[in-house]
Amino acid sequence: MSKHPTIAEHLEASGVSRRSFIQLCGMLMATAPVGLALTKGSVLQVAQAIGKTKRPSVIWLHFQDCTGCTETLLRTSAPDVAHLILDVISLDYHETLMAASGAQAEAALRSAIADNAGKYVLVVEGSIPTRDDGVYMELGGKPAIQVVRDVAAQAAAVIAIGSCASWGGVPSADPNPTGAMGVNSVISGKPIVNLPGCPPNPYNLLATVLEYVTMGKLPALDEFGRPKFAYERVIHENCPRRAHFDAGRFAAAFGDEGHRKGWCLYKMGCKGPVTHASCSTRHFNEIADCWPIGLGIPCVGCTEKGVVWSMGTFETVPIHLATPPDTYPPIYSGTGGIKVGAAALVGAVAGAVGGATWVASQRFQSSQEAGVERVATDRAHAEKLKASSGKPIEKKED
Ligand code: SF4
Repeated sequence: MSKHPTIAEHLEASGVSRRSFIQLCGMLMATAPVGLALTKGSVLQVAQAIGKTKRPSVIWLHFQDCTGCTETLLRTSAPDVAHLILDVISLDYHETLMAASGAQAEAALRSAIADNAGKYVLVVEGSIPTRDDGVYMELGGKPAIQVVRDVAAQAAAVIAIGSCASWGGVPSADPNPTGAMGVNSVISGKPIVNLPGCPPNPYNLLATVLEYVTMGKLPALDEFGRPKFAYERVIHENCPRRAHFDAGRFAAAFGDEGHRKGWCLYKMGCKGPVTHASCSTRHFNEIADCWPIGLGIPCVGCTEKGVVWSMGTFETVPIHLATPPDTYPPIYSGTGGIKVGAAALVGAVAGAVGGATWVASQRFQSSQEAGVERVATDRAHAEKLKASSGKPIEKKED
């Protein structure tokens, strides 16, 4: 095998079956059904295109984070999926997953940069402290802000994974003591993709990296640098509880009747109507309904700057009109017994309608009879004409 094998060569050497790889490609296509050039064509064509590509080198740095983004990459329901993802990309430096530490880790980072200068994808997890010259976090004796700038300088592209790396996330919550910021606030001159989420879905990362190395370009981004294939729609559009929202059926508290019946969580502070993310269509850990709303927890809007950590958990977001029950008709109307007055009125109306119907039918019958008589007269007249051989019937003189 060459020093820089293709993805297909590497998978074969690692004993990964073609079937598992095709399944992964199928999941990628389901993650990004639109807006991702990579997913055009059949799953076999996509698998072929990815297989021919050299494994992308990825350097992964951690800053002010909880490691949740890494956890979501590894905690798949089937361990094979995590291994498969790590086989498809070449994770050349990752502080949480590598055995080395201290000077050895520093040497590993230098060597990963030197081996793939200008070609690697830099993934950043966590926010960057900027206050007081970045003194609040250092790696190898250097402020975090300097480390991220140095490593980004030789990267082909930068991916900010998670809400902290995208715009500061939890560490930037008021009063933001460390001056936490997202990657795009501290580096420039490089293509940067934001994959916000707390945590984000790992398939969005894999799809973005593979799009870049297979097609040679980043996926289309929205105004906040998020790939449109994953962040173009709000959760509310594809939420399985949407029918309850439209019908005005809301849970008001955890464990109440509406909550037990799976009704809409809007009145419990669900931020789904303003949150752009694919959680409602691509669940976590490959388990159906494994996502906040699927588990009965209101969406906190973790992919939206200015929503999560800025609004109260149970505060409701503004929607197009006032509270839905005031603007949508109820689906059930109450019914009761018929009162005597109402029965009399119904009887009177029914009698009037019945009488009018009888009169109309009589009129119709008379007109029918008149019509029959007219036809008979015409026939008799025609017979007389025939008998007279077409001569006009002589008018008898009185
Ligand atoms: Fe789903 Fe939340 Fe919208 Fe209700 S408000 S339909 S729970 S996204």
